[in-house]
Amino acid sequence: MSASASQRGLAVRAPGLASWLDVNAETLDTDATLCGAVVPHLAEAGLLRIGVPSELGGDGGTIGDAIDSVAEVAEHSFAAAFVLWGQRTFIEYLLQSPNRGLRERLLPTLLSGELAGATGLSNAMKYLSAIEPLQIRAVDAAAPADMASGGRAWRVSGGLPWITNLRKQGFVAAAAVDHASGGPPSIFAIAHHTPGVTRSDDLDLVGLRGTNTAALQIKEALVTEDDRITDDAPAWLTHVRPAFLGLQCGMSLGLARRSLAGADEGGPGASAALADEAAALHEQLHALAARLKSGVLQGEFVASPARLFELRIALAGVVHGAATLEVQAGGGRGYLRGLSGVARRQREAAFVPIVTPSLVQLKNQLAAQRAQRKTGTAS
Ligand SMILES: Cc1cc2nc3c(=O)[nH]c(=O)nc-3n(C[C@H](O)[C@H](O)[C@H](O)COP(=O)(O)OP(=O)(O)OC[C@H]3O[C@@H](n4cnc5c(N)ncnc54)[C@H](O)[C@@H]3O)c2cc1C
Repeated sequence: MSASASQRGLAVRAPGLASWLDVNAETLDTDATLCGAVVPHLAEAGLLRIGVPSELGGDGGTIGDAIDSVAEVAEHSFAAAFVLWGQRTFIEYLLQSPNRGLRERLLPTLLSGELAGATGLSNAMKYLSAIEPLQIRAVDAAAPADMASGGRAWRVSGGLPWITNLRKQGFVAAAAVDHASGGPPSIFAIAHHTPGVTRSDDLDLVGLRGTNTAALQIKEALVTEDDRITDDAPAWLTHVRPAFLGLQCGMSLGLARRSLAGADEGGPGASAALADEAAALHEQLHALAARLKSGVLQGEFVASPARLFELRIALAGVVHGAATLEVQAGGGRGYLRGLSGVARRQREAAFVPIVTPSLVQLKNQLAAQRAQRKTGTAS
């Protein structure tokens, strides 16, 4: 039997954060009262610096360590893990951006948790898969007077219907932008205080309500070369996608582990009846976690994204299986409010298939690739 979440992972790495999340996991899922506190707590526990080079203010380590930290948080609170995903993924964008000035300007406050980083790139991921056009457009504009000569500027307009970690105290959001003048789309870091940027009220979600999830409207906001994460979104996204998806899969790893631990906590009769299914899920989870981390670390998924898509789909299956097993092991107790996290984990698990890239999207993409290969072989 695996050690419980109280004896390993976050409870050992950051016991204060682990107990804060255990006490508040339900609140973080069902209302927004603590939404301003999550990023500072994650920062205080040192989680935002994991896998960031020490010369840039981080604690060193690898992206695999950052994936582990997201998984550890997800065992306690999926909402907090989703916030960590947004913040850490934005940090990763800066680490992989050729714009050194932007990195030097934003990284210190992102790492300290003063500034929230939000990733509005679902639209860009769907655009890469030819599902929808980009929803923000840039028109060339005159550079501000205080900008170095030759600097470029644009007025951007559009909207993103879903973004998490739009912390009311201050955020910066990554958004992909189509250029009216042609050329590849760019990705900009758009600051909350830029004139023309409006955050909606929090969306009326069925769960994850403490995550500062809202819509962003942008009307003729001025951005410059200094705010540009990349000037070639498709090429850059292909490189950053393994980290984006790897960190996101960390949420699934943690949730599945917690649900399986919950299934183990059932009475002896239930545990015996479910033992074979639980053992099979544990084994799958272990193998998928190892494959995920080694593939992301070795760069395998840049050239072969299909393998990462397959992993994400398989992990979602394990999350579903584990959550179902926990319901069976918990019996009626799980259906009573406030007695266990079983109902919350059902809601959390329901999010896994829909977060971008969604399972439908990935299944379609894999099917298209298989069809292409068949046609290629036949011709
Ligand atoms: C709580 C919450 C937080 C979120 N936070 C963020 C965030 O921080 N950043 C962000 O960018 N997004 C965020 N999203 C958006 C999320 O990641 C998905 O993009 C969104 O839920 C799916 O888009 P949709 O509902 O508009 O799906 P639709 O576009 O309505 O599509 C429905 C489903 O079909 C799939 N689909 C549609 N067209 C095709 C096609 N042609 N081929 C294959 N599949 C297709 C979609 O992927 C989806 O699974 C969030 C969503 C939620 C619910």
